Amino acid sequence: MTCTPLPAEFADLVASARTRPGPLVVLTGAGISAESGIPTFRGPGGYWTAKAGEHASEKLRPEALATWAAFSRMPEEVWRFYLYRRSVCRRAEPNAAHRALVELERALQDRFLLVTQNVDGLHRRAGSSEARTYEIHGNLNRMRCPNAPGEEKPRMIPEALLDWPRERAFDDEARRLLRCCPGGTLARPHVLFFDECYDEATYRFRSSLQAAQHAAMLMVVGTSGQTNLPDQMVRHAAARETPLVVCNLDESPFTRLARDRARGLVLRGKAAQLVPAMAEAIARSWA
Ligand code: NAD
Repeated sequence: MTCTPLPAEFADLVASARTRPGPLVVLTGAGISAESGIPTFRGPGGYWTAKAGEHASEKLRPEALATWAAFSRMPEEVWRFYLYRRSVCRRAEPNAAHRALVELERALQDRFLLVTQNVDGLHRRAGSSEARTYEIHGNLNRMRCPNAPGEEKPRMIPEALLDWPRERAFDDEARRLLRCCPGGTLARPHVLFFDECYDEATYRFRSSLQAAQHAAMLMVVGTSGQTNLPDQMVRHAAARETPLVVCNLDESPFTRLARDRARGLVLRGKAAQLVPAMAEAIARSWA
């Protein structure tokens, strides 16, 4: 592992958290996958700052496309956007930060839990276990029936649809392969749309909140802190004086919160450089 020197405060915080009950909870966002070449949400080149036509749909901006309202009106247009994003993510490889969290999970076992906002599937592809990885916004590699919320385990999207250039039109092959059942309705992407709410059955809402409430330490990596469940998780942990480390390139509500607390620390920099060093230090102290 690459070892970036960390401040002495980090070692102190990790040591103080070691004897607290509960797991290390790691919360990740788009920034951890930036060095794998996947555009972040709000950064330059991100899907969500794009104009209509730049990333799949000719008609709608991405944030209008990623909604249940759009999916119910134009499912094929919405699917084109997700299949294109999926092909970008599948060409990307996990980076040193994803791999370091796999090593850390191996070292800590049940004292480790990963909660990710990312839908790119890179944590799972790196080797993070299904049981200890909550994908709270879903996974671009999966689909599920739109008429059975929470009842069906999301299925893998067929590999035949892996190569999906931006300009590819929705075709009969896609129509056939994305059916819920033979002759049935089109499946939906297994992602939380903007106009939907979190739930426990599909997105582990309650479990994620409880994990943050009972964490021995919370480590937050590469998120701008604009989504609801991560915001609640970090605020719950901060209210309990849980040791909080935030690793991010830029300022965010979470960096400000961590800086305001005695048991908080901000590490400004790139995840692929900082996370391996952080993971190694935690494993050494806790395992
Ligand atoms: P965001 O784009 O709002 O914020 C990313 C944060 O990461 C920023 O604060 C930025 O400063 C930081 N960052 C950028 N590069 C970094 C690096 N190399 N190392 C450390 N930090 C870095 O993303 P978000 O907060 O995760 O937004 C959440 C939404 O974005 C979710 O709904 C998620 O599903 C979606 N999203 C996911 C992906 C993905 O799966 N890879 C990509 C784009 C958007």
